[in-house]
Amino acid sequence: MAPGHFIPMVDMAKLLAQHGVTVTVITTPLIAARLRQTINHATASGLPIWLLHLPFPSLAAGLPEGSSTTNLIFHDFTKPAPASLCSIPTYGPRALHPHMNNFVVAIDMLQQPFEQLFQLLEPKPSCMIADKHIPWVTETGRKFRLPTIIFDGMSCFTLLCTHNLHVSKVHESLSESEPFVLPGLPDTIEVTKSQLPGILRPVPESLRPVSDNLQKVGARVRAVEEEAYGMVVNSFEELEPRYMNGFRKIKERLWCIGPLSLSNKDNLDKAERGNKASIDENQCLKWLDTQESGTVIYACLGTLSRLTLTQLVELGSALELSKHPFVWVIEGGDKAEKLDKWMEEDGFKKRTKERGLIIQGWAPQVLVLDHPAVGAFLTHCGWNSTLEGVCAGLPMITWPLFADQFFNEKLVVKVLETGVSVGAQAGVNLFEEDNFAVLIKREAIKKAVDEVLDAGIKREERRKRARELGERAKRAAEKGGSSYLNRVEGGGIYCGRCVVEWWRKQKVATVVVVVVVVL
Ligand code: UDP
Repeated sequence: MAPGHFIPMVDMAKLLAQHGVTVTVITTPLIAARLRQTINHATASGLPIWLLHLPFPSLAAGLPEGSSTTNLIFHDFTKPAPASLCSIPTYGPRALHPHMNNFVVAIDMLQQPFEQLFQLLEPKPSCMIADKHIPWVTETGRKFRLPTIIFDGMSCFTLLCTHNLHVSKVHESLSESEPFVLPGLPDTIEVTKSQLPGILRPVPESLRPVSDNLQKVGARVRAVEEEAYGMVVNSFEELEPRYMNGFRKIKERLWCIGPLSLSNKDNLDKAERGNKASIDENQCLKWLDTQESGTVIYACLGTLSRLTLTQLVELGSALELSKHPFVWVIEGGDKAEKLDKWMEEDGFKKRTKERGLIIQGWAPQVLVLDHPAVGAFLTHCGWNSTLEGVCAGLPMITWPLFADQFFNEKLVVKVLETGVSVGAQAGVNLFEEDNFAVLIKREAIKKAVDEVLDAGIKREERRKRARELGERAKRAAEKGGSSYLNRVEGGGIYCGRCVVEWWRKQKVATVVVVVVVVL
């Protein structure tokens, strides 16, 4: 429930509409405002999509007004959380901040107005696709006798790893830094406990009762997973066939329908995706046009990462040291101002003026990645970014921070062999600025960048693998491709599991509701 969730869900709404299904997107006003341009554009091109919104009960739930997304509430904290909550690895105090509880309360308060709105929809929807973190969706689905399909937003690799660790619990008795082999995978992949997502890390007894609420939410989400009719995943079979097949043994009704970002076909779609870009897209493309093909590093660490100023300076210095042209995306706010001051005073801006494009705020990421001048993606390995890098056929410089990002890094570096790690050893506290366990030094970042971008047989092979994967991604999403048909690779057996086909077989009204409540 963050931009990393509602962006692919709207891509999915477009994809379904491209298949001829009428889609109604229901979300909150703030998110609706971010999505309106995209939906208007889709509607103007003839796609049957509707956008409705429900007021988000911020004040009634005890939240600051207008804080209907997770990244916003974490920005808006006015009072720090109690010190006793400040030591939970990969959760951090903010995830246990009272606002987090209130946010959950607010989401629960949406159920009734959602159901009222739902009753007014004509024709009646035949299916609901919902973010699995909205804990009441299956209950609502039951009330309206409607199949609920959940969207998770992660790779099959992560889903399988998470499931296997939940079952085996092999990590629980280990120390934070002791490497262990992830159980039940077709490849031998080592991680440490400190790299695992927060949901796999039990909160200490001493932190109850605040943590109880978090655990209750976790339990409700797991119940949604169990009860849902099936699951759609933003991935494609050719990318991770053994992991997809592995997870399908656990979740039978699993549809890989990605890469969802490919539902954005023209430059306008790409430029508007997720938010209004902070840079004029033509100016951005013009700058890229002046660069040599395959030389530019695109550096963006997602929507939730909060790097310290020191860490940002290391990253900037690494980009400068690497001597390659770069596009560097920096989130707006206080930090950006301080960084800007450093760039001026240090002379960074002046020295890199010719070869650096800095985007402060929201970047048109997919548009940039698809430009031929871009040669590598320095990414935090959020699943959407990872897939977008794959679609663009780019090798990646991987810098995971938290959540599923270390799993995604392993997939890219160890399984697909299309990336090089900057060497992050441990997860950081989600949303926390001052909890970077270890500073990633400029030399380490530069080394990974050079490894990916400079000449050499190994590098050329890596680039070739990435290029081929990009082509396979596009083929998967095209008419007749694996995501389009959703057939199992290898056996070549058509499973008939394609969501759209299933709806058609139901012979009922073809309206789908995608619930996107967001963070
Ligand atoms: N994104 C973007 N512009 C930005 C930052 C992010 O378009 O300046 C998009 C990006 O393309 C991706 C999503 O936001 O689709 C971020 O999702 P991801 O899973 O990569 O990371 P998260 O932000 O959830 O950690």
